[in-house]
Amino acid sequence: MDRQQEFVLRTIEERDVRFVRLWFTDVVGSLKSVALAPAEVEGAFEEGLGFDGSAIEGLARVFESDMLAQPDPSTFQILPWRGETEQTSRMFCDILTPDGEPSAADPRNVLKRTLAKAADMGFTCYTHPEIEFYLLKSQQPGPDGAPVPVDEGGYFDHVPGGVAQDFRRTAVTMLESVGISVEFSHHEAGPGQNEIDLRYADALQTADNIMTFRTVIKEVALQQGTYATFMPKPFTDHPGSGMHTHFSLFEGDTNAFYEAGAEFQLSKTARQFIAGILKHAPEFTAVTNQFVNSYKRLWGGGEAPSYLSWGHNNRSALVRVPLYKPGKGQSARIEYRGIDSAANPYLAYAVLLGAGLKGIEEGYDLPAAAEDDVWSLSSAERRAMGHDPLPASLHDAIRSMEDSELMPQILGEQVFEHFLRNKRAEWQDYRLQVTPYELQRNLGIL
Ligand code: GLN
Ligand code: MG
Ligand code: MG
Ligand code: MG
Repeated sequence: MDRQQEFVLRTIEERDVRFVRLWFTDVVGSLKSVALAPAEVEGAFEEGLGFDGSAIEGLARVFESDMLAQPDPSTFQILPWRGETEQTSRMFCDILTPDGEPSAADPRNVLKRTLAKAADMGFTCYTHPEIEFYLLKSQQPGPDGAPVPVDEGGYFDHVPGGVAQDFRRTAVTMLESVGISVEFSHHEAGPGQNEIDLRYADALQTADNIMTFRTVIKEVALQQGTYATFMPKPFTDHPGSGMHTHFSLFEGDTNAFYEAGAEFQLSKTARQFIAGILKHAPEFTAVTNQFVNSYKRLWGGGEAPSYLSWGHNNRSALVRVPLYKPGKGQSARIEYRGIDSAANPYLAYAVLLGAGLKGIEEGYDLPAAAEDDVWSLSSAERRAMGHDPLPASLHDAIRSMEDSELMPQILGEQVFEHFLRNKRAEWQDYRLQVTPYELQRNLGIL
């Protein structure tokens, strides 16, 4: 029993915690939860809690289904929305095989492996996500089949008496009370669309925070009689929900992305990192944008990036190098704008980081920065400048991922194969659907 584990056991007793939920995440990013009685926690620390891994998407094959969930005491947290009496708490778990080895198929472990690789190269990785989502009146669509947003606000709008303002205030308070620091929050461009930006933290903690964030946001919405969705593109005519993420690498206390006097103050390490992301983006887009619907966002305008490009303070670029004040070199970072709010954060951050690290390892060259609005160039201009398109559909993304050498290295063969199988099935299902769009267009022809 180590000190953190002892601290958890003591807190459970002192705060009279009645339920301890063990959380982990499947391959597509769904949160899984099992509630433990307090008396069972010590055993779970020591031996893990046994469960049937084959019943969880992507975790195990039927013939090796026994798995163990071992709680990570550093993630212990009381869940305030469950009420003051009979308190409920949670810990994230690592998934182990029966002989106590970390499971290769656990998304949290996939990210840990990538971070260990970064550490071998001398880097700590910090991330800061901007999470967009829509707040709807309910999960039920309106009479025209489209979801019904809670308001008609737009970017940075202050809607007097607006539901969204109350919502953000309660949600941010709730997030802070589970130890998630919020940097800022605002109304986004779409009706009912909101954005909440989390303070930077190391990448594993950010991924855990995103899983908690989604639960908190959904809980608060339900409490207020609304419904929150992280679907990438719920409306044809309004922007999608992205999860832009800022990345920086530190060597000790020094920001490895910063170099005073260099172009855009970007170090060679930062340039190679961006080059790695751009080169491998088509291969990892199935992970950062994992649903059929994700491609409606990427290709549906609304400031979502569609082409491989990077730029200094250029919001049409896939990778943006934000402006920062002189003397603020420690805040040097790059922003990846492709990823959407429905990604599995563990796998998505693993592939993004893994691609960036590959760029550093191999010393990739960075193409020229995009100075124009990439969307308004002609396709010939874009081709001449090397701004190839991101995959246009889940099908294209699967094809690019299948051909990748790097992705199975980052994800591990088991996750790589399972993920592709899951996504092929989704595409196969989708391509057979006859949609309202087709009926409207084609029922009356000939
Ligand atoms: N909603 C846009 C996206 O999907 C981002 C808009 C913004 O933050 N400027 O990426
Ligand atoms: Mg933002
Ligand atoms: Mg935004
Ligand atoms: Mg942004």
